Amino acid sequence: MAFSLTWLAQVLLDAGLRVAEQPDWKNRGRGEIGPIKGVICHHTAGARNNNMPSLRIITEGRDDLPGPLAQLGLGRDGTYFVVAAGRCNHAGVGNWQGISTGNMSFIGIEAENTGLPSDPWPSTQVDSYRRGVAAILKKIRANSIMCAGHKEYALPLGRKNDPTFDMNDFRMQVAAIMSGSAPDPSVIPAADGADRPTLRRGATGDLVKEIQSKVGVAATGTFDAITEAAVRQFQREQGFVPDGIVGPRTWATLLG
Ligand SMILES: [Zn+2]
Repeated sequence: MAFSLTWLAQVLLDAGLRVAEQPDWKNRGRGEIGPIKGVICHHTAGARNNNMPSLRIITEGRDDLPGPLAQLGLGRDGTYFVVAAGRCNHAGVGNWQGISTGNMSFIGIEAENTGLPSDPWPSTQVDSYRRGVAAILKKIRANSIMCAGHKEYALPLGRKNDPTFDMNDFRMQVAAIMSGSAPDPSVIPAADGADRPTLRRGATGDLVKEIQSKVGVAATGTFDAITEAAVRQFQREQGFVPDGIVGPRTWATLLG
């Protein structure tokens, strides 16, 4: 008998995301899940290599915790692996917005990341994370506040540290996608009128140094997490959607 979250794959596909439906996912779960109130975001704390090395553990569980451990896995390349349509063991004891029935009420997303500072989140993965959460929240008619980080949900506070990114910023980006005000990264022009390329995390070179000097971080020439955070802050101050990507509009404002 299939469980109730059989809409999960289609909602993600409809949002333009890459989806890999796992064998028999519609019949997988700890049992039936209750009415969905929101999403809890996790990182796997798994291995550093490959796209989704934790997929098997998410599906089958561990010695101390039977699977499935989340309805969705999110690979480093932004692909959603749809694992289960029923209840999963991901939340543990906690509370978010007065809801303490974690596994019964929240969809779990396990994104592949070690959780270490030396493992930055690829922008394509973070973008898929936001878009997937936005699509699910729209489907269940919930506000962006109903997206919690595991570190926010879990009690006692400090029991969990995942995911490592800033959840307030994440929710703001999710809200922007839900309201249609977020730019689609694929339609940000590759360069502006003066041939300045659109730059994001991972870029290197003299133009990155120029950005860094404008946003007040060390001019290392590598567009790293610190640079991205400073670009977001700059964009926030300008009233732009803080996507951390230096496209034509951000270039013009930085140089103006
Ligand atoms: Zn977690």
